[in-house]
Amino acid sequence: MSDAAKPDSALPKELLTETHDGHRLRTRSRSIVDRSKLSVSTDAASPPPLSGGVKKAPNLYSGHTFLNRPERFRLDGHKMIYHMDRVQEWRRGERIAPIHIDMGLTKFCNIACIYCIGVTQGGMKKGQMIQPDALLRLIRDAGRLQVRSVAFIGDGEPTLNPALYDAIVLARECGVETAMATNGILLDMNRAHDVLRNQTFVRFNLSAGNSEGFRRIHQAAPALFDELIQKIRELVRLRKENQYGCTLGLQMVLIPENFDQVLTLARLGADLGVDYLQVKQCSDTEYGELGIQREEYRRVVDTLKEAESLSREDYSVQVKWNKINILAETDVYRHGIRKYDICYGTPMLGQISGNGKVYPCGPFFGKDRFLIGDIHRMSYYDMIKGDRYWAVQRDIVENIDVHCDCTIGCRQDYINTFLWDLMNPPAHVNFI
Ligand code: SF4
Repeated sequence: MSDAAKPDSALPKELLTETHDGHRLRTRSRSIVDRSKLSVSTDAASPPPLSGGVKKAPNLYSGHTFLNRPERFRLDGHKMIYHMDRVQEWRRGERIAPIHIDMGLTKFCNIACIYCIGVTQGGMKKGQMIQPDALLRLIRDAGRLQVRSVAFIGDGEPTLNPALYDAIVLARECGVETAMATNGILLDMNRAHDVLRNQTFVRFNLSAGNSEGFRRIHQAAPALFDELIQKIRELVRLRKENQYGCTLGLQMVLIPENFDQVLTLARLGADLGVDYLQVKQCSDTEYGELGIQREEYRRVVDTLKEAESLSREDYSVQVKWNKINILAETDVYRHGIRKYDICYGTPMLGQISGNGKVYPCGPFFGKDRFLIGDIHRMSYYDMIKGDRYWAVQRDIVENIDVHCDCTIGCRQDYINTFLWDLMNPPAHVNFI
């Protein structure tokens, strides 16, 4: 007898009816539950097992359970469904502002992570950065345009731009949420309160769990690792003491050279008291300049699962499985073919290089054909309303082959999947 075929003894006796004389069921029985009695039944003495091994009698109506943990941070997906107003404006052909902007503040860095994709995106140049006036004007424009959030993520290290902290404070005044990804080493602790009070999250790019790994992966002096750890501890303390809402997280970019650091870093994150450790695969360029072999991730799957098991109520270790699991996809998808043919995502998520130049996306930094403008020369507000911006967006839609011309696993990838579905509805959509 299969699992599905249970003997009559599994049914609560007082709910059985003998009167059913229709066809036999798979259990070779004619006994069924009399559903009209369910509302008065309180019998939970011998609950039949439900699927998933949950032991509870059905139809007690005792309230919902808590078997699905709420997703506190969505680190491995997108949140477009919360911005359908902007999406509908775009579908009506309006010149919308991005929902979110990722922007570099500099084009250089104080360390040299061996997986840095910024090096390939228009190059790095010491001292090059967005000037304070242009940065603050951009923030005001973002407020005017109702950009909902700006993340100082991408290109060089944001803490090397001295206008960073004023931009954070101004953005709050303008109604724009901000976040930053930083290596943290140069974070000005004199401005720690401004950061923690005003930013939605700070994510530390840390891909090693000890000073030796830090030297190897980030090509930085081991002593800096200890300084960074002290800083993060202090930020966690300040946040708690002042009840600031800023989320503090770590991000590990996973490459074979740091597979041995996964568990060490996961334990360190728990010890530091940060909210999460995100582990992500390493993106690579359309020319494979970082030499990422996706097959290599197979070796580390068990370790990643063990790292996730270190999650607690107030600390989660999250692996970006959607990307790593691409290994389980068909041969076509495994080798970088996407599940959509057109990139619609660039008007939703704007990207600005750390030298102030505006492009449709990070992987196109430095490609003159797609240069929209420079925030030192023209306001972002005027750019968004102008013809050049939308001509470039059209160029992306009409001429880009996302399977060949694009960085594998780019920032807009999840958004593009969603928009592709939206723009290519199946038949019978009202039969939901
Ligand atoms: S799909 Fe291509 S064009 Fe679109 S954002 Fe990604 S890299 Fe840029």
